[in-house]
Amino acid sequence: MSENNSTRGDMPVDEFRQLGHQMIDWIADYLKNIEQYPVLSQIKPGDVKNKLPQQPPETGDGLKNIFDDINNIIMPGITHWNHPGFMAYFNSTASGPGILAEFLSAAFNANGMLWRTCPSSTELEQLTLGWLRQMLILPDDYWGIIYDTASVSTLHAIAAAREYAGEKFALRKKGMIGNSAPRFRLYCSEQAHSSVDKGALTLGIGIDGIRKIAVDEKFRLIPGELKNAIDEDKANGWLPFCVVATIGTTSTTSIDPLDEIAKICNAENIWLHVDAAYGGTAAIVPEMRCILNGIEHADSIVVNPHKWMFTPVDLSAFFTRKPDVLKRAFSLVAEYLKTTEQNKVESYMDYGVQLGRRFRSLKLWFIIRYFGVDGIIERLRFHLKLTQDFAAWIKAHQYFKQMAPAPLSVICFRAVLKNKTEDEIDKLNEMLMNNVNSTGKIFLSHTKLHDRFVIRLAISGINTKEKHVELAKTLLDEKLNELKNNG
Ligand SMILES: *Cc1c(COP(=O)(O)O)cnc(C)c1O
Repeated sequence: MSENNSTRGDMPVDEFRQLGHQMIDWIADYLKNIEQYPVLSQIKPGDVKNKLPQQPPETGDGLKNIFDDINNIIMPGITHWNHPGFMAYFNSTASGPGILAEFLSAAFNANGMLWRTCPSSTELEQLTLGWLRQMLILPDDYWGIIYDTASVSTLHAIAAAREYAGEKFALRKKGMIGNSAPRFRLYCSEQAHSSVDKGALTLGIGIDGIRKIAVDEKFRLIPGELKNAIDEDKANGWLPFCVVATIGTTSTTSIDPLDEIAKICNAENIWLHVDAAYGGTAAIVPEMRCILNGIEHADSIVVNPHKWMFTPVDLSAFFTRKPDVLKRAFSLVAEYLKTTEQNKVESYMDYGVQLGRRFRSLKLWFIIRYFGVDGIIERLRFHLKLTQDFAAWIKAHQYFKQMAPAPLSVICFRAVLKNKTEDEIDKLNEMLMNNVNSTGKIFLSHTKLHDRFVIRLAISGINTKEKHVELAKTLLDEKLNELKNNG
C-alpha cells in the first residue's frame, strides 16, 4: 500500500505530482528507446493474462508495483504502433503533442454531450473541424463532428442516407419492419472496407441490401457498372439509397473516381458517402488535393486523423452537407437534457447514437497548432516520397513485383519465382512476411488481390525515416534469399 493511500478520496495531489513526473520520464524514455523493442509483440496467446492474479486485489497497491508489472508483463505484449518499423495495415502513430493532449483531456474528464456540460469541448470541436475542413479544401457547407472511428462515422452516414431516402415512408416513426417502404439497397466497390457492410448490417439493410460493384484493373469502382446496377435495381423494386466511394481503399489505396460517381448519385438523388478514412489526409498536400475532386457533389465524408495525422487513437472526423438530415435521424431530447440555451447552441448528442462524448478535439487542436499546416504537409510529403522510392526499388528488383498502383503511401508486392506454381508463390510470400516480422525490426501485413497473397508495406509513421525503409529492403532480400536457398 502506498504511504498516502487512505480509505476516502482520491490519490493525494502531491503523490499524483510525483508519480506523474516519474511517468512522463518513463514515457519519454520509452519513446526515445522504442526501437529496442520488437515492433510486433512476440508473445503467445494467454501470456499476459496468465501472469497476473485472476482475483482483484482486496487492498490498494502502490504505483511502483503496478509499474513493475507494466515493465515485466504488459510491455512484452505490446505491439508498438509508434515504432518507426511499423509498416503494417495503416500505421498510425501518436505524436508528442497528441499524447500530451490526451493527458489533459483525461484530467478535465469533460463530457461534451451538451454545450453546457463543457462549452469548450463543443466549441473547440467546431473550431478544429473548421480548420481541418479548410486544410482539406472542403466546401464551406460541410459541417463536422468527431466520432471515435471511421466505422462509426460510416454507420452514421448510412443512417443519414436511410433517413434521407426513407422520409417519405415515415421510416423514423414506423421503422424498417411492417413498413410499406421498398427494400433499401446500398452500393460500394468490391474493395470497400468491411465497416460499410457492418454499418448496413447494423441498420437492418441486410447482406442482400448491399451490392458490391466491380472494380477496374487499378481496383477502382467502375462508374458504368454502378449506373447499370442502380437501373436494374430500380426496375426490380429496390430503393437505391446510398453509395459509398472510397478514397484510399484498405488493400491497395485505390481511389474511386469520385467525380463520375457523384454525377450518377446526384442524377438519382442518392446519398454519396466518401470513405477517406486513411487516404483523405493526403488531400492536405496541395499537389494531392485532386484525390477529392468531386467532393463538392457528395453528401458526407470521413477522414481519420488517427490514421495518418499523428493523432492517438481514436479520432475520426465526419463531415456532411446535410447535418439536418443526420439530426433528424438521431435527435431525441429527454426532459432531463433540455436546457434554456438549446436553441442557440449545438449539442453534439443530437447527431449520433452516443450521449456522452470525450473531449477529443483537444488533441487535434494541439497537433495542428504544434506542427502547423506546413509541418503536417512536409511530413505527409516525405511519406509519399519514401513510398515512391520503395516502389522504384521493387520495380528494379529481380524477384519482387508490384501488384497494384501505389497512389498514396502503401505498396502491394510479392516475390515471384520461376518454376513455382501460384500456390507455392502464395506460401513463399506468406513465409517471407512472417520471417521478416519475426525479426522484430519491421512489421508488414498482407492482403489478397485476385485471390493471391500479396505483402503490403505502409509508410505513415511520424518517425519512419529512410533508414527504416532501407532496413525493410535489407530484411526482405535477406529472408527471400534464405527461403530460396532452403527450398
Ligand atoms: C481503417 C479504415 C476504416 C476503419 O477505420 P476505423 O477507424 O478503425 O473504424 C474504414 N475505411 C477505410 C478505407 C479504412 O482504411
